[in-house]
Amino acid sequence: MLKNLKNLMTNTTNRTTNDSLEKYLQQSIPCLNKGFVRLVDYMGSDSSITQAARVSYGAGTKTINDDTALIRYLLRHKHTTPFEMCEIKLHIKAPIFIARQWLRHRTANVNEYSARYSIMEHDYYVPEEEQLCYQSKSNKQGRSEIIPQPLNAEIREKITDITEKSFATYDSFINEDINLAKEIARGVLPVNVYTQFYWKIDLHNLLHFLRLRADSHAQYEIRVYAEAILELVKLWTPITYQAFMDYAVNAETFSSEEISLLKKLLKGEKVNPDDYRISKRELANLKQVFDLDNL
Ligand SMILES: Cc1cc2nc3c(=O)[nH]c(=O)nc-3n(C[C@H](O)[C@H](O)[C@H](O)COP(=O)(O)OP(=O)(O)OC[C@H]3O[C@@H](n4cnc5c(N)ncnc54)[C@H](O)[C@@H]3O)c2cc1C
Repeated sequence: MLKNLKNLMTNTTNRTTNDSLEKYLQQSIPCLNKGFVRLVDYMGSDSSITQAARVSYGAGTKTINDDTALIRYLLRHKHTTPFEMCEIKLHIKAPIFIARQWLRHRTANVNEYSARYSIMEHDYYVPEEEQLCYQSKSNKQGRSEIIPQPLNAEIREKITDITEKSFATYDSFINEDINLAKEIARGVLPVNVYTQFYWKIDLHNLLHFLRLRADSHAQYEIRVYAEAILELVKLWTPITYQAFMDYAVNAETFSSEEISLLKKLLKGEKVNPDDYRISKRELANLKQVFDLDNL
């Protein structure tokens, strides 16, 4: 009791804290033109993961006694529950079309800004010049080369213009003369308008989110946020971060067919990829990973 009171008075804590991350508490990391990731709170550390794992392995497991080795083992072998002992709470401001992708991740707790209750802020996303690209021909979900000037600038102007007009209509609907309910008026606003939400997630599910959204296949705009969060994870749980980079982000999974082909190659034998159940895309990836230009 006395100790608790003393903690309150001196603002100290017996909780696990992380000096590097403490500095980021309540700080916003800017993302895109008006968005941010703000660290609201966090719980746990790399030690919380090993502590939880040791409960399940029992005191008798003397061989796995190094934190780094244990975390790398857990991550590699998908022993996921110890990573759920760490939690992070973020405040996110992102364009609605990015929030839609974000909130597909169901394993977080979310509380979003209510546009039924509150007036939408006049903040909207206008892509930088280098993000205005042609539709990719090879990747139906992607972009290719930058659209040259003067067309590029014209597109940016049109995005600004149409969003401003939408806001003017929105404002006219909710002003005192008309007083249209905000929940209906918001329907005229486009999806590049920024929304905000609180997002609390455990480290296991956060890593899953980051694996998908910091990946080159993810849309650039959500990747910007994922990369900002990755930087926080690096400070928060550095051992887990490194294991995640080594075993998930920069790692590859191979099918049994691919392994058979690789084994044959390693023995110096001639290989015909058509003899294997390997798709064109898989083959291209295999060639790229192992620099197999002649395959
Ligand atoms: C590059 C990319 C392109 C995409 N394109 C599209 C698209 O065109 N259209 C589209 O609709 N979506 C698309 N998505 C969204 C994608 O299909 C997933 O909905 C999203 O990535 C969330 O993934 P998740 O379900 O694994 O994550 P979470 O919802 O966080 O779930 C994490 C894990 O929990 C488990 N889980 C959670 N809920 C359930 C449940 N109800 N039942 C069983 N298991 C559950 C699953 O193992 C899941 O992987 C895309 C995602 C990416 C990254």
